Amino acid sequence: MTRVLLLGGTTEASRLARVFAEAGVDAVFSYAGRTSLPKAQPLPTRVGGFGGAEGLARYLREAAITQVVDATHPFAAQMSRNAITACQITGVPLLAFERAPWAPEVEDQWQRVPDIEAAVAALPQAPSRIFLAIGKQNLSTFASAPHHHYLLRLVDTPGALPLPDAFAIIARGPFSIAEDEALLTTHRITHVVAKNSGGEGAEAKLVAARRLRLPVIMIDRPVLPDRNVTDSIEAVMAWIYHGADLGV
Ligand code: NAP
Repeated sequence: MTRVLLLGGTTEASRLARVFAEAGVDAVFSYAGRTSLPKAQPLPTRVGGFGGAEGLARYLREAAITQVVDATHPFAAQMSRNAITACQITGVPLLAFERAPWAPEVEDQWQRVPDIEAAVAALPQAPSRIFLAIGKQNLSTFASAPHHHYLLRLVDTPGALPLPDAFAIIARGPFSIAEDEALLTTHRITHVVAKNSGGEGAEAKLVAARRLRLPVIMIDRPVLPDRNVTDSIEAVMAWIYHGADLGV
């Protein structure tokens, strides 16, 4: 008997949910509950934190989960760490679905930085027009560079923004290259700040920046402890059906 917990919040998690539903895999989809209108899933869905690694371990036991697939965003490091710990505590096997990071092309002007604080430090001294494509979390870190104009693209209408000169567009990806090129041009953007999320849905801004020869400050992914990882849906399905046989 298999009962999978699918940790979601990404396009890939939604894709996995569809494949699970079509294959009749008994699975529960889990959202953090960050957005006001999360995409409906073809699986039973729960919303909200578990209460840390201990809370997740308790949930795994109570819901009789036999396998966990972590398809959270590459920057959702806390959830991924909790999943590793909870699966160690309970002995429930874990597989992470992780999309490949983006890599720069020859014409790209990327400056890679290890974290958000380093991204702020990498901004120019002179007042500039920044497309801050990092979602709504961590915006306050940029309050230490208040002399820039910031263009934000968010899923939900924000409350008060921690940045004195910011303009927020409310939109949900995927975005096209033409759309993003027009966005960067219209807002006279001089620099792009992005997280190295990987995937297709958010890549257009990088192609647009390349075409417009704009510098990109690219934030590297947080480093996680060792875990089983794949970027293939077929491998996830094989693991669900035969994981124990594969020894993972
Ligand atoms: P995070 O910092 O790693 O997680 C913070 C806490 O939120 C976790 O400890 C957990 O609370 C809860 N949580 C996160 N993902 C959850 C899930 N799928 N189901 C239930 N609880 C969850 O995560 P985050 O960066 O805030 O991201 C939150 C969600 O947004 C994730 O599901 C992620 O896939 C999605 N997302 C994140 C980003 C990003 O850039 N970070 C971008 C796009 C989408 P408890 O400790 O109480 O269990």
